[in-house]
Amino acid sequence: MKRLLAATEVSAIPDYDMKQKNSFSAGDAPEDITLCMLSSGSKGNSIYISDGATSVLIDAGLSGIEIERRMKSKGLSPENLDAIIVSHEHADHIHGVGVLSRRFAVPVYISRKTYKAALPFLGKIEEIRTFECGFGFNIDNVSFHPFSVSHDAEDTSGFTVSENGTKIGIATDLGIATAMVKEHLKKCTVLVLEANHDPDMLANGPYPWPLKQRIRSRTGHLSNEESRVLLKEIQHDSLEHVILSHISETNNTPEKAMRVVGQAITCCGARLDAAGQYEAGNLIRIPQKS
Ligand SMILES: [Zn+2]
Ligand SMILES: [Zn+2]
Repeated sequence: MKRLLAATEVSAIPDYDMKQKNSFSAGDAPEDITLCMLSSGSKGNSIYISDGATSVLIDAGLSGIEIERRMKSKGLSPENLDAIIVSHEHADHIHGVGVLSRRFAVPVYISRKTYKAALPFLGKIEEIRTFECGFGFNIDNVSFHPFSVSHDAEDTSGFTVSENGTKIGIATDLGIATAMVKEHLKKCTVLVLEANHDPDMLANGPYPWPLKQRIRSRTGHLSNEESRVLLKEIQHDSLEHVILSHISETNNTPEKAMRVVGQAITCCGARLDAAGQYEAGNLIRIPQKS
């Protein structure tokens, strides 16, 4: 693993090379988890998560060069990535995986079935580490738990990412919110949740009928309303932040998604944001519980 120095140690080294560490300022608590939505939507998805020592991407669905650019625009170093974790083989999730893995010697974590399906698009990857939905794995101190979701790829995973009682839930391509999805997304500190489409905009929009059917189906994407119902069920007092993701540019607007899904938040006052497609979002600092 690419071990990083704690912020206090870093400030004592005069010739400290910025390439060796993501640019957290000296005042940041090193134990905060940092999350950045690098891109979200049908043109590409990628989420950066780091605890200051271990840094990963969940999906890399833009070109390698664009992911690199977006990371650098937020002071994040691709050289420091310890893993790229793949949710499923659709192009908007894997487009840059092969290039980034080769350029920065980053291992790729992927389910066996997804790897088989993605292989023609990934190219040669030096280090593949397979996981199985339902079985957690650790990268250093960070725990990842992949779980099956209903979406029309070989073996699509949602994830929870946990460390010291802080839990991030990620479910960006959901046909329906199954009981298993709800179970996994319970008690999250931060939720990255799909709010793909407004049903009326989808019905009246320009997409061909078969594609409309696919999006609405049990293995397609979650509507604003379905996302609202899911969030209502899984919200809890310690939920701090909900980031709406995979918002369709054609069949939804961030404002509509926020308005509809936001109605669910009644008990906890969690902050609500919408992730964008064209620029990296703000760095979100999530303090660890203990
Ligand atoms: Zn997909
Ligand atoms: Zn997708």
